[in-house]
Amino acid sequence: MINGTMYIDGKWTGSSCGATRRIENPFDGSEVANVAEGGREDAREAIAAARRAFDSGGWPQTPAVERGRLLARLADLVERERENLARLETLDTGKTLEESRWDMDDVAGIFRYYAGMADKDAGEIIASPNPGTSSRVVREPVGVCGQISPWNYPLLQASWKMAPALAAGCTLIMKPSEITPLTTLKITELAEEAGYPPGVVNTVLGPGPEVGAELAESADVDLISFTGGVATGKTIMRAAAGNVKRVALELGGKNPNIVFADADFDVAVDHALNAVFFHAGQICSAGTRLMVQDALHDRFVEALAARMKRIKVGNGLDAATEMGPLISADHRAKVERYIAIARREGATLALGGGRPEDPALANGHFVMPTLFTDCDSHMRIVREEVFGPVITVERFVTEKEAVARANDTTYGLSAGFWTRDPDRMARVSAALRFGTVWVNDFNVYFVQAPWGGYRQSGLGRELGRQGLEEYTELKHIYHNH
Ligand code: NAD
Repeated sequence: MINGTMYIDGKWTGSSCGATRRIENPFDGSEVANVAEGGREDAREAIAAARRAFDSGGWPQTPAVERGRLLARLADLVERERENLARLETLDTGKTLEESRWDMDDVAGIFRYYAGMADKDAGEIIASPNPGTSSRVVREPVGVCGQISPWNYPLLQASWKMAPALAAGCTLIMKPSEITPLTTLKITELAEEAGYPPGVVNTVLGPGPEVGAELAESADVDLISFTGGVATGKTIMRAAAGNVKRVALELGGKNPNIVFADADFDVAVDHALNAVFFHAGQICSAGTRLMVQDALHDRFVEALAARMKRIKVGNGLDAATEMGPLISADHRAKVERYIAIARREGATLALGGGRPEDPALANGHFVMPTLFTDCDSHMRIVREEVFGPVITVERFVTEKEAVARANDTTYGLSAGFWTRDPDRMARVSAALRFGTVWVNDFNVYFVQAPWGGYRQSGLGRELGRQGLEEYTELKHIYHNH
């Protein structure tokens, strides 16, 4: 079994109070691991170690070329451990092994991308207005970073934070979700093997309101990067105000997928399905809010329902499985509450809504693929993030109406639409106020492009050049010769 302890200042260590946590497989509730359950004291130790490693100057002044070399080494190690990591991710989250393998390929790609970027920014010379002087603007690492990640993409989300922070020369304390720590522990082992100096990479485990809160509150942490729910994001932002630390937030989404009547029908149906049932809808950018133009609506819903019926639900480790369980019994209860709310609100339950009948799945946290029709924009099922395998369908008539309704949301992470009309492509992509807009596609992301949300879907951007800049401070050096 994977090393189930924390990693602080280059040493593997149990919780200071001796507590442990049982990590369960969401498919059947079986024990996958037993890991240390840290508390505030452990977080403080990790922060102190990261502070020392940063303030001693050794790591932030390591040549950028060397920081890039270490990240490339980490990418190699992720590739070497791809199958192990993917298996751990599936055991921990229930997602299919194929999805976990894609995640690991992305993780390796993210380390490689930032390895290449580490030595590319040498600053810029700007025009000084004063004779006999010169001015330079350089980027410096922001310092000690707390990095808190969620359970749906445990290692992928951690790598979005870890790779740019290390490329920039920061030191860090990772805090995975308490229910999915295994791949974060494994990447920590790989960072140790790659040769990061003690204190540069630290990993603490434990409950968010203690360990995570300590990272957010501490005056010794310079930046907190958080991916998770909006309510937690707001708590973290308030906690971060104490020392005005930098805050990067990747929060939830309720993402419209708009199908115009001139769309390529078969492709749009395919993507409408994948947009939601990938990882059982537990994706911040899931296209759970489907909007279909009147003329196409009934045919589209019929085709979608037919496809949904064929989704193979089961154990993520089984190659035939297309959709695994939800992460936990608590989360399933939340999804089921939303299904009940939708029915009370008057949405029509066209498919699913319950648990699988197969007794072999009885111990897993499953909800069957669920389709609600006759939805309208004010329903909670349409406005709030369910984070489960549930699609709501709204009917619309005009383009203007579709755009206005899509933008009428507190979220703003991503949106997609389907049309063959080039003028509409230009108009609608300009009018939709979301961090990512897909035209004739859905749920496509890659490390080269910035990712983040408008409105309450977040603050700042991860990935791309912008994701690296989040981990830097700008310094203007004025030199009077
Ligand atoms: P969550 O907010 O419950 O927890 C996320 C992390 O925050 C966990 O590590 C948790 O331990 C920690 N945490 C909890 N309370 C805390 C506190 N008071 N102080 C500090 N840390 C605390 O979210 P979750 O249920 O793990 O993840 C699901 C959410 O994440 C969804 O809303 C989803 O949309 C969002 N998400 C967003 C993105 C994105 O890129 N925008 C990506 C993945 C997930």
